[in-house]
Formats: sequence, C-alpha cells, structure tokens
Amino acid sequence: MDALNGNEVQALRAALRKAEAELQRVRDEGESRRHLVDILHEVMGNLPTEEIFHLLARRLARALNLSHASVILAKPGSPTGVVATAFEQPHLHDLEIELDKYPEVISALHGRIPVLIPDLMYCPLYAQLRDKWEKEGTQVKIRSVMALPFPLDDDNWGVFLLRRTFDTPKFEAADVEFASTVVRSGVAAIRRAHAIESTRADNHRLEALAQTDPLTQLVNRRALTVRLVTEMERVRRYNAPLTMLLLDLDHFKLVNDTYGHLTGDDILFGLANLLQRAVRTVDTVARYGGEEFVIVLPETGKQGAVAFAERIRDKISAHGFEVAGHREIHVTASIGVATYPAPGLDSAEDLFRAADAALYRAKGSGRNLVCS
Ligand code: GH3
Ligand code: MG
Ligand code: MG
Repeated sequence: MDALNGNEVQALRAALRKAEAELQRVRDEGESRRHLVDILHEVMGNLPTEEIFHLLARRLARALNLSHASVILAKPGSPTGVVATAFEQPHLHDLEIELDKYPEVISALHGRIPVLIPDLMYCPLYAQLRDKWEKEGTQVKIRSVMALPFPLDDDNWGVFLLRRTFDTPKFEAADVEFASTVVRSGVAAIRRAHAIESTRADNHRLEALAQTDPLTQLVNRRALTVRLVTEMERVRRYNAPLTMLLLDLDHFKLVNDTYGHLTGDDILFGLANLLQRAVRTVDTVARYGGEEFVIVLPETGKQGAVAFAERIRDKISAHGFEVAGHREIHVTASIGVATYPAPGLDSAEDLFRAADAALYRAKGSGRNLVCS
C-alpha cells in the first residue's frame, strides 16, 4: 500500500474531524429530543386535552421547523372532523372541517398508522386535489405533510397534522419517527384528560336532565324546591323579600277534551316560553306539575309581585297559542301570590301552602284572577 503524502493525511484528518463533529451534533440532537420527550411527559400529567394538544403542536412546530401544526379530531370513516387546535392560529378551536381536503388525515384515520407525504405534488393521494387546484388556479404553499393518528377513546381518534412549506426541506422518515415519539409521549395524558372531560360533560348533562321538565324544558319541581330553599336563605341574609307565584291554567281539562292532549302539550310548551320571556334572569320559572307553574321572584315584595302577576295574567289571556292544525287557541290562568317574610311563614313549604291558598281563592272568585 502506498504511503499517504502529507496533504492526503491532512485532508483525511479534516474529514474525520468533520464526521466526528457531525456525529456529535446528531447525538446532541438525539439527546435533546429525548430530553424534550421526557419533559413533555412530565408536564402533561394534569392538563386538559386542549392544552396538551396546544403544547405538543407548539413543541413539534418548533422542533421540526413546521409552518402548520394542528390536531384534528374525528371518527374514522366520518366525512367531517373538528380542528381542536392549530399552532399557526392560536385562537382557533373546535372548527368543523370537511376531511376531503385532507387525504392524509383520512388515510391516517383509516390505516391508524402515520402517513408521510414528502412532496404532495407527486403523491397519488393528492391527484384529485391537484387537478382541482390546477382548474381553480390555486397556488399551494404546502409541500411536505405528515399525519400522525392517535386514539382518544373507543370511537374517536385524533390526528396531528404537520406541514412544511416549499421553502423548507421535505419531511424524511426520521422526522416522522421523532414526531411519532412526541405524540406517543402524550397519548396516555390525552386519553386520561379526555376521559375525565367526557365524564364531567356527561355528569353535567345528567344533572341538567334531572333538573329539567322534559315537555317544557323548565326547571322541574324537585330542582325548584332546592333552589327555593337556597333563595330563601339568601334573601333572609340580605333582609330582602321574596315572592312566589303559583299559576294554574283555567279549565285546562276542557282544552284537552276539545283539542286533544297533544295540543294541550303544545300550549303548555308555548306558555313556558311566554313565562320565561316575561321574567328577569334572577327569577326562576318552574313547572310545578301538570298545568301548574311556579315563578320565584327574589327581592320582590308583595306589591311589585302582584303588579307583575297581573301583567302575566293579561299577557296569557291576550296570547293566541299557535298550534298546528288549529286557529290560535286562547287560555286563561289564575295566579296565587305569597310573599316571604310574613307572620307564620318560615319555610319553603309554608310559602307553597300560602301561594296555593291564594290560588284557591282566585279559582273560587271566578278564575283569570290574581289573589294574594
Ligand atoms: P281549573 O284549574 O280551572 O279548576 O280546571 P282544570 O280543568 O284546569 O283543572 P283540573 O285540575 O281538573 O285538570 C287539570 C287538567 O290538566 C287535567 C289534565 O288533563 C291536564 N293536564 C295535566 N298535565 C297535563 C299535560 O302534561 N299535558 C296535557 N295536555 N294536559 C295536562
Ligand atoms: Mg291544576
Ligand atoms: Mg287548571
């Protein structure tokens, strides 16, 4: 073997130094990327899904020099999805989108594995969209795309959609691997947060359902009782009055007998709307039972409440209830008014009893009346 001359040795040494430096750079990068994954893992423990998505999208965007990084949630096979977060548009969330513009997302959801498109100008998945762009003269800035799917729960999936524009290098397999590791580091935290959030939402829905009358969507009797006790305690503390109106439709049995029970239901629904529109936000309108309604008016004394009850009574008698297949139907109501505090009136039951007694007087005195 020929001996190397001095120049050749120097050139080899330089090449070796360069290779070593490159190796070190790759090692450092690998180290810092591993470090990043560790940090992310720790940080995400107790965050809500939205913040985890945002955190991961931001980190990926920085580490991979992305122009776009978003999280799209969808059921596999569904034509639409929801953008939960987008790094490039921090204020956007829960935007519904048509997935046919995102073939890589559809493909990732379908195959449930990462999809890499180094250059969408040459990718068969984009053939149709390319034709469309050409026809419409659309200039596309995005070149490189990857879609990384992850499971949210049994039915719902998410996809990290990462994109680069033409002025940055195409994605390579190593980028997908890195991004997948970052996403994987967050999946457990995402699923946990998602489970907590859905349970919480379900509990809220169930709680609301348990307090709502299904026909009128008003507060039901059970919830009214709870609210009334709280309100009475509150006004007692502030030394303020509170008034209850107990309203009963007149001869409603006759309305049912004449028009049928379903029409009766429609009238009850219409009446609930009328009452709800007539009150202040601090007031409570509840369906007490059949054709009986309660309105609770905090910080309202007898005089003001009677005037209000008269206005309501007037409104009802003047209102033509529009019911399918009929001319406008007219009904009237009798209203009993009871105000707290008053002698011998201490509890919510006392207040109900007093309002009921006043209502009974209104019925006895000819109906379509207010009594207190
Ligand atoms: P008044 O109160 O003026 O004495 O007469 P009324 O006919 O309204 O009173 P009554 O208590 O005798 O009858 C109440 C009627 O309300 C009987 C029932 O058919 C009707 N009703 C109760 N709940 C509902 C309901 O959910 N839907 C319909 N359509 N009718 C109901
Ligand atoms: Mg009744
Ligand atoms: Mg009645």
